[in-house]
Amino acid sequence: MTGLVIVGHGTRSAAGVDQFAALVGRVRRRGDVGDVEGGFIELSRPPLTDAVGALVARGHRALVALPLVLTAAGHGKGDIPAAMAREQERHPGLTYRYGRALGPHPLLHDALEQRIDAALAGADRAGTALEGADRAGTWVALIGRGSTDPDANAEVAKVARLLWEGRGYAGVEPGFVSLASPSVPAVLERLRRLGARRIVVAPYFLFAGVLPDRIVAQSAEFAAAHPDLDVRVAEVIGDCDALADLVRERHTEALAGDIRMNCDTCAYRVLMPGFADKVGRPQRPHDHPDDPVGHHHHGHDHHHGHDHGSVAVVGGGPGPDDLITVRGRALLDAADVVVADRLAPTGLLTGLRPDVLVIDAAKVPRGPSMAQEAINAALVSHARAGRRVVRLKGGDPYVFGRGHEEVQACAAAGVPVTVVPGVSSAIAAPALAGVPVTHRGVAHDVTVVSGHLPPGHPDSLVDWAALARARGTVVLLMAVDTIAKIASVLIEHGRAPETPVLAVQDAGQPDQRSLPARLDEIGALAAREEIRPPAVFVVGPVVALTTTGPTV
Ligand code: SAH
Repeated sequence: MTGLVIVGHGTRSAAGVDQFAALVGRVRRRGDVGDVEGGFIELSRPPLTDAVGALVARGHRALVALPLVLTAAGHGKGDIPAAMAREQERHPGLTYRYGRALGPHPLLHDALEQRIDAALAGADRAGTALEGADRAGTWVALIGRGSTDPDANAEVAKVARLLWEGRGYAGVEPGFVSLASPSVPAVLERLRRLGARRIVVAPYFLFAGVLPDRIVAQSAEFAAAHPDLDVRVAEVIGDCDALADLVRERHTEALAGDIRMNCDTCAYRVLMPGFADKVGRPQRPHDHPDDPVGHHHHGHDHHHGHDHGSVAVVGGGPGPDDLITVRGRALLDAADVVVADRLAPTGLLTGLRPDVLVIDAAKVPRGPSMAQEAINAALVSHARAGRRVVRLKGGDPYVFGRGHEEVQACAAAGVPVTVVPGVSSAIAAPALAGVPVTHRGVAHDVTVVSGHLPPGHPDSLVDWAALARARGTVVLLMAVDTIAKIASVLIEHGRAPETPVLAVQDAGQPDQRSLPARLDEIGALAAREEIRPPAVFVVGPVVALTTTGPTV
């Protein structure tokens, strides 16, 4: 025997609690879903634990838990399952099937239509000057709760559209009373500018509560400021047969294991712009002051991580926005502060939220060691202030990127730090120009070399003679000024003068340019053709394989 527990979020509104209880009573009286209880996860009585406890006491070990929510947002996706998990800890062996959120559903749209018509008829009886309940002259502002979950907000927009289809209203526009825009005044203003004279504000809410009250207050305020407009507020959906019918339908679905959740656009599964911090985030229980089993986690984790600053040293790839890793992109989207290099993909910065602090590391005080110290200090101090800091670098952070100095500085300061590898220009620039840095039977080694210091420089750590004797691929970075000298040292120690070389400038950018030459010609050619940083030089037999045809 399967019991049904109808789960509400809870409200400070006594009327809302009464409406919930009335609906549970209606469902119970109809007798078509078996044994039923209702409970709240917070704020209101009875708590969920009492409802489950009552069903368990009557012998149920298998339940259907139906979240009484219109859209699946944080409560439906996280808090209610977490509360049910706690019940399972309490009652070993208890199993449950989880029901789907109620909307969008034609029964709800019909109920909304009736509430809207009632608002129109009511005002007509009051004898306004406007001509009858004429839908064609009526605009509807459908106001949802609003969520930090974009999918839940999109559901409200969908309901607005479905409500409009075929019903003859002048238009139905979605809006939100909290956490999302447009706000109630903003959507009313939008309708006013569209020429609306009569607006019905329809709360997309099941029951009375603090937020529906706020919709009424905000609508009244707007109406008072625009006496030429006829603004009316419809009732919430409330306890009614349509809602009981829908509960029965969701119950039947859950029993049959027919869970048609919309996972395609769920921010916890899919990376959506601006919501990267949600992807894969574990769902934690709400704070339950009334619940003796509640562990008092802080459930409203909207600014999670803010009290625990951290640094991520992220390789941004060689330049194009889409050659960063998925992990790097997710961290970037969740960052409060971004410290970016000159060579970091700057296109990624334009997509950041406006409140993100972007620090241009190229603009910190001059002098290489000074600059690095200032950067390290900025990373540490922002993280210590509780911010999520991303140090965005070009290519890979550890390939001549000084990434490890930053990691060491954070570690020394006790700041949590992580490294996200990137696509290095050492490999990517040749590839983007059609050169494989290795190829079977052609090169079995590839050496990535900094040309920052010329051969013979006292501080140089490079064994140029060994590179000259080797047969494979050499990729030179930071070598625009030193290429002539490097080429002649390589020839001097044994590389063939006719070894093919390819200079690749601005790889991945629209102005990417590549220039082939022999090793004994590349120095002069690079100067004559004005090769400019950033550029790499690929040296070795693989250059002869360069793909010249279309590569896309
Ligand atoms: N960490 C970076 C390299 C930093 S050193 C990486 O892994 O790619 C900077 C050098 O990288 C430049 O002088 C140039 O040699 C090379 N470079 C970076 N981006 C480049 C690009 N888009 N095209 C060609 N070379 C690039």
